Amino acid sequence: MKSLLITGGAGFIGSNFIVHFLENNPEYFVVNLDNLTYAGTLDNLTEIGDNKNYKFVEGDICDRVFVDSLFKEYDFRGVIHFAAESHVDNSISGPEAFIRTNVLGTFNLLDAARNNWMSAPQQYKQGYEGCRFHHISTDEVYGTLGAEGLFTEETPYAPNSPYSASKASSDMIVRSYFHTYGMDVVTTNCSNNYGPKQHIEKLIPTIIRKALVGENIPIYGTGENVRDWLYVLDHCTGIELVYKKGRSGETYNIGGRNERNNLYIANKICDLMDTMKPKAEGRYSDQIAFVKDRPGHDMRYAIDASKIENELGWKADENFETGIVKTIEWYLHKLT
Ligand code: NAD
Repeated sequence: MKSLLITGGAGFIGSNFIVHFLENNPEYFVVNLDNLTYAGTLDNLTEIGDNKNYKFVEGDICDRVFVDSLFKEYDFRGVIHFAAESHVDNSISGPEAFIRTNVLGTFNLLDAARNNWMSAPQQYKQGYEGCRFHHISTDEVYGTLGAEGLFTEETPYAPNSPYSASKASSDMIVRSYFHTYGMDVVTTNCSNNYGPKQHIEKLIPTIIRKALVGENIPIYGTGENVRDWLYVLDHCTGIELVYKKGRSGETYNIGGRNERNNLYIANKICDLMDTMKPKAEGRYSDQIAFVKDRPGHDMRYAIDASKIENELGWKADENFETGIVKTIEWYLHKLT
């Protein structure tokens, strides 16, 4: 069996990924390392049941002694690293946790992997699949776009929030371990995800939650900021493909070619909820309220996913109009 370390697997994307990966890869033993911050919950993993190929370990990626001991115990042949502080608003009010987890935590994992895999250097130099470090990152590292253009893997980094700066820093450290030590690393930079199990602090769950309780649905500025939305399971298939087939030392952008502005998203969800869970009186869109814009708020993100599409044959399956209905259904079930 191949032993794989997945970090942050109790969070939104990590938990969706683990459930998907275990279903499709019975030859892997997966250890999920997560310290269960406010953003992580084991409720996201109940579908796994008593699968013998899975083990949850509670622990902090910033604790180097602990991370080293885990590598010794399980002899991991690969790492897929999701764990992070991930909410931009929190990075503005309290950046320190972002630097600690996203920068120091990533360094700890990389360096523990290097120490562990050094004993078989000929393997990782040849891109040995089992000794790969896959870093999960974001398109926010590229900064903001104007009305035109798309982020490619060649777009210069220009992060604007403490969150994106911490992710950009960790991407650079990962890159250095390829160039300096010849470690087999890949990085994927993905656009905004949506779907089941996302923490309720994020935009789409907030719209649904506030709509249901009859409160104002807060939209930053004028709601014109554009994000490129990707259904979380499409992100999971992209990660699996890059982990298995991506070229060592490369980065791959993952995006759904689904650009929507925040006001469109809010109105779309409200309109769908008018049918799926009608209010006693009025329409949900009456609750939309504009609030003071977020400092450093990037105007537009959009991904050119040609590299992963052409090189690895990946394609997003879900279109936004169907994915958003599934997402609302999931939250209606969870919150009502
Ligand atoms: P999330 O906040 O839902 O989950 C993060 C998980 O990491 C949680 O379970 C948390 O408990 C765990 N964690 C945090 N600090 C830890 C620590 N010190 N030690 C161990 N575990 C720790 O985040 P998400 O939305 O699932 O994002 C996962 C990854 O994907 C992140 O690296 C994020 O930057 C990246 N990403 C997210 C999006 C998105 O739209 N959500 C888009 C692109 C990239």
